[in-house]
Amino acid sequence: MVSHAYIHIPFCSHKCDFCDFAAFARVDHLIDEYEKVVLKEMDDRLTALAEKVGGLKDERLKSVFFGGGTPGLVEPRVLGSMLAKLSSYIKLAHDCEITIETTPHAVTREKLEQWESLDINRISVGVESFLDEELKAMGRDHYRREALQGLELACQSKVAVVGLDLMYGLPTQTPQSFAKSLDAATDFASRFDNLLHVSAYGLHLPFNSPLYSRFPKGADAYPADDSYVEMFELLVETLEGAGFEHYEVSNFARAGKQSSHNLAYWMNAEYLAFGVSAHRYLDGVRTSNWRSLKRYMRDWLGDETTDVIDEKTRSREAIMLGLRLRRGIELAAFEKEHGFDLAERFSSEIEKFAQAGLMEKSQGRLFLTRKGVPVSNSVIAAFF
Ligand code: SF4
Repeated sequence: MVSHAYIHIPFCSHKCDFCDFAAFARVDHLIDEYEKVVLKEMDDRLTALAEKVGGLKDERLKSVFFGGGTPGLVEPRVLGSMLAKLSSYIKLAHDCEITIETTPHAVTREKLEQWESLDINRISVGVESFLDEELKAMGRDHYRREALQGLELACQSKVAVVGLDLMYGLPTQTPQSFAKSLDAATDFASRFDNLLHVSAYGLHLPFNSPLYSRFPKGADAYPADDSYVEMFELLVETLEGAGFEHYEVSNFARAGKQSSHNLAYWMNAEYLAFGVSAHRYLDGVRTSNWRSLKRYMRDWLGDETTDVIDEKTRSREAIMLGLRLRRGIELAAFEKEHGFDLAERFSSEIEKFAQAGLMEKSQGRLFLTRKGVPVSNSVIAAFF
């Protein structure tokens, strides 16, 4: 049964130049109306689900994730009413992981207290960089000072896990400047016991990204390929050196503090989802809500996309997501689930990558080596 739920809060103080999410600035006057629509969507979808499976009273949610957009921007009572509605249909497990994403400048002491009272136990702070020049180049609306202040406030709270999000491959960024952001991250981790998670994603821009108007594709301001790889190596070295486990290509955590919500995605588990553009996976079908805010608010049960995940797609996704995890794919479990021996079917590819030092098969698992992780996309592509 489904144990995870995602709720999309699309409001932002500013639309960042690189952002391709369903995130909208200057529409805060719609927050109350949006809240009502999401509550209606929950009523409609969860009533239907309860009828379909003969009741939800024995089910428990293990994770709820407020993503965005900037969920940290809205009044905490909005998140509270959504949590109350959700849990009126499916109870939250006593140790349910409840995560909220926020920008650093949306964090205040008052909000932290209210988030704590809602049992929010993970905060993911989108710092992206600690350098003013890089933040300006990528079109963020916060600076180093706000990043330090917001993160410090979050770390001073009683919230169990504070996560810090960084980006690399940014215009104007160099391995040396990225090292400064990593140093600031490890400084926080050394001072606060609850700074337990770091995500770091390489910049990937959609073809029509507004960032290209200031930094056209191929501009010298973007780090060259070898600098990009150097930044990734620096990232892994620095965070592992600071005691973080590299558990997924772009994610690091102290022992036992991985994001169980994200792990559920990467393990191909089913999940509920609510809100504009939210993607769900239920009964072997992946659907997403309208990406247009106006359209979603008129038609909260309408689908922008519907993909039936057949067995071939499911096994491809299991390979793709499994190889992104540093522990890799459990080969016996894979065969039981998908009905074929992965190591046998792809023996020549695996041998080629093993000889190049990019992949390893050991103790019943297939996984990328540290050398293979920076080129994970091309290694994984060879399996399709
Ligand atoms: S704050 Fe995050 S979600 Fe909002 S526009 Fe910027 S990158 Fe997108």
